[in-house]
Amino acid sequence: MKWDVVVVGAGFAGIVAAERFSSRGKKVLLVEERPHVGGNSYDYYDSQGILVHLYGPHIFHTKDKGVWDYLSRFTSWRLYSHRVQAYIEGKKVPLPFNLNTLEALFPSSFAATLGNKLVSEFGYGARVPVLEMLENKDKDIRFLANYVYENVFLNYSIKQWGLKPEELDPAVTARVPVLVGRDDRYFQDPYQGIPASGYTRMFENMLKNPNISIMLNTDYKNMITTLDFERMVYTGPIDYFFDYKFGVLPYRSMRFDFETLGTDRFQDVAVVNYPNDYEFTRITEFKHLTGQKHEGTTILKEFPEDYEMHKNVPCYPVHTSKNLKTYAKYKKEAESLDNVIFLGRLAEYRYYNMDEVVEKAMFSCEID
Ligand SMILES: Cc1cc2nc3c(=O)[nH]c(=O)nc-3n(C[C@H](O)[C@H](O)[C@H](O)COP(=O)(O)OP(=O)(O)OC[C@H]3O[C@@H](n4cnc5c(N)ncnc54)[C@H](O)[C@@H]3O)c2cc1C
Repeated sequence: MKWDVVVVGAGFAGIVAAERFSSRGKKVLLVEERPHVGGNSYDYYDSQGILVHLYGPHIFHTKDKGVWDYLSRFTSWRLYSHRVQAYIEGKKVPLPFNLNTLEALFPSSFAATLGNKLVSEFGYGARVPVLEMLENKDKDIRFLANYVYENVFLNYSIKQWGLKPEELDPAVTARVPVLVGRDDRYFQDPYQGIPASGYTRMFENMLKNPNISIMLNTDYKNMITTLDFERMVYTGPIDYFFDYKFGVLPYRSMRFDFETLGTDRFQDVAVVNYPNDYEFTRITEFKHLTGQKHEGTTILKEFPEDYEMHKNVPCYPVHTSKNLKTYAKYKKEAESLDNVIFLGRLAEYRYYNMDEVVEKAMFSCEID
């Protein structure tokens, strides 16, 4: 059989590609090495019947109405605004750092003085990067910037990336903003939600076209030479595609520890970050995301670790200048192949939010 398109990888990138090509009558073979579709956005019901995200919490948010409308053809949504807290000095306080956080952490008169200074300096509703605040002429504003940098970002980033403090570039970390306001939603995008019946159900709907055939548990390299096809969409790691000829592209990974508790609620919001205490970075309680009713609850602790092939999953590309130079060599090589589209976070060695991958895949696959 001759395939019009072979898609490698059944994450968001590969699934949108398969859906787009199949909708135009193309015969598509989707090859995935894991035992399920959905890539890192896969969700499933655990042994207690609670819907969880196997590779960490995934919250869909976008400014792009086209992306939202496209996915809405395959799912309805639980409209959900993400809220996060940080555990700082023994208290759970709202994140992003905002005027409510200020009041939760400091004596009320000092919090009021600081709050007034922030509003008059930056205007109500402003999102001010900590780096900019660190350069302010007012000593109280500089104090706050230092406090936020030290207590909210520094240790979190060190844990997340496995770096020593001196290896961390403050210019990168301190881009994170302080919000001069009280809107404590984690994302401000106009479209936010979780697929009402879960991501996996939405993916199954996207893959219903009879022009799509799916092979799970298959590394494409083990069968690609047996296939006859016109074009490939490749969403796996780009260094693997080229047999690591320019070297390995490193990733940071996570150990995901799930725990089911016999209580209805564990914490007040979906995610609590632990920048300074414990070895894990955050705890997620899934029922906040999904709205599921259940007498128990499942939580997830994330322990950052280095990525090792076949041991854990590649989560975050490590963008040092050395690694980006290596990636540039692979990219150049990729550009010389005119029947392969390299798409998604592994093939493009970049952190993508889900909506960005969908938008890129929709755009890249608008070809005959
Ligand atoms: C912990 C975590 C939390 C996140 N939270 C959010 C969030 O809240 N909101 C948001 O918008 N984004 C979030 N993201 C980002 C989101 O996961 C990505 O945008 C999305 O997964 C990208 O899809 P993809 O198809 O490019 O990659 P993937 O989902 O990784 O899919 C790639 C697929 O290719 C397969 N594959 C690889 N090699 C081969 C091979 N040799 N043969 C066959 N198949 C292969 C893999 O098994 C995988 O299924 C999060 C990411 C992480 C790590």
